[in-house]
Amino acid sequence: MDTIMVLKFGGSSVADNEKLQLVAKRITKIYDKGNRVVVVLSAQGKTTDKLIKEANELSSNVTSRELDALLSCGEQMSTSKLSILLNYMGYPSISLTGWQAGIFTNDTNQNANIVKIDTTRILNELEKGKIVIVTGFQGIDKNFNITTLGRGGSDTTAVALAAALHAENCYIFSDVDGVYTADPNKIVDAKKIENLSYEEMMQLSSEGAKVLHNRCVEIGEKFKIPIITKSTFNEEKGTVISDNIEDNKVKSIIKKEVSRVSIIGNGIIRNFDLIEQIINFIRKKELELLNFEISETKISIVFKNIIDDENIKELHQIIF
Ligand code: ASP
Ligand code: MG
Repeated sequence: MDTIMVLKFGGSSVADNEKLQLVAKRITKIYDKGNRVVVVLSAQGKTTDKLIKEANELSSNVTSRELDALLSCGEQMSTSKLSILLNYMGYPSISLTGWQAGIFTNDTNQNANIVKIDTTRILNELEKGKIVIVTGFQGIDKNFNITTLGRGGSDTTAVALAAALHAENCYIFSDVDGVYTADPNKIVDAKKIENLSYEEMMQLSSEGAKVLHNRCVEIGEKFKIPIITKSTFNEEKGTVISDNIEDNKVKSIIKKEVSRVSIIGNGIIRNFDLIEQIINFIRKKELELLNFEISETKISIVFKNIIDDENIKELHQIIF
């Protein structure tokens, strides 16, 4: 049987009608190759921020139930718009909300966990040859209240759907084309990483990298779904997050807040040369430490004073 492809597009990829056209083209190209396609969308641009702001302007005591009812609308707008466009382009498609797509969660509003996905409706629609477009970030609890999965949660919807549908992998399209060895906005020679293990990606996320919703990586690992992050706007190769572990290769350096620096890579605990270089760097710069921890996949250093981007740049140069 042809494979099911799960494609997720982030908020900046669907920000306006023009961007929706580009997204539609990407989708139809994949559909035309004979794949069954499930699309997951975020809300358009800064819609979610705007809705939160507006709710707080109405009340100083917004209930979490109503906030989720409101926030879920953002994704309903982007998905229905895309479906309108695809239908107009001659492609059969249907938009489904979280509950229509069978996504059941616990009742923790604003930070709900997916507990079960009933894929019957999605599979029926795919069977009819439709492109199925599912709202990211939302589900329904056992009392049929709408829930949301936490900011950035559309990634988690996508990977959970990929797992439930036994898709081969899950594509996450956004305005960045992958995960980098350092923040590319700050470090000019930061390089794109081709492969990361789930564990490495979880370390990166928990150290502040805003590439993926952390829970989507946990689900990817649990169900062995490779997650491929790619740019919506070019054909560049992205970053693959999977079980595929390249031994003892240093992957990334990341700066959290201002004073905690972490270096990630499987087996880093045995990379004595690297550890020595890092210690030499700290000594040379006379940086005061609060903490220095090494684990199997991470060196985590907490500095007493604020570490500026110049220092991170130098450290990056030493390591890579
Ligand atoms: N729209 C939600 C947010 O802005 C979910 C997402 O984009 O993944 O957080
Ligand atoms: Mg996101």
